[in-house]
Amino acid sequence: MLNPRVAKALNEQIVKEYYSAWLYLQMAAWFERENLKGFAQWLRIQAQEESCHGLIFYNYICDRGGDVKLGAVGAPDQSFKSALDVFERGLKHEYTVTASINDIMDVAVKERDFATQSMLKWFVEEQVEEEANFGEISSKLKLLGAKAGDGMLFLDKELGARAFSLPPPLVGKFGAVAAAP
Ligand code: MG
Repeated sequence: MLNPRVAKALNEQIVKEYYSAWLYLQMAAWFERENLKGFAQWLRIQAQEESCHGLIFYNYICDRGGDVKLGAVGAPDQSFKSALDVFERGLKHEYTVTASINDIMDVAVKERDFATQSMLKWFVEEQVEEEANFGEISSKLKLLGAKAGDGMLFLDKELGARAFSLPPPLVGKFGAVAAAP
């Protein structure tokens, strides 16, 4: 039986993960317009990963016999100014997601919900990676500066090599096929 306070926090996190997917898909569209297909590819895959994160929380609530209550996902910001602006906002967004995961962990600790604490550990580690990814790309874009030229094309090629892989908590679970590209 899932603790009601924990269930509420997990349901709210599903919406936040799908909002992340929405935001990154919106960001991908900005790069599509700029004809930087590699950046767009990287962000499309990031969006897919975020949908997977939502499904992991969804599956977990089901596994624990809780009630899934899906909320509305808001429209993402659409006023991006530059490649650097996109990735800096992405990094800022990941900071808020990290804070949100930490808040759920707080609730799980207070409610002595050890199973949820164990499940959340994967997300705690995942957030380290997410912040590092957005931080690294932001730094590279800063180095390139406004007139990026060849460097920008090189980075576009590098990011375009990203391939989707199913997050381990979703392997063999319901929803895995739906989340795949
Ligand atoms: Mg996520």
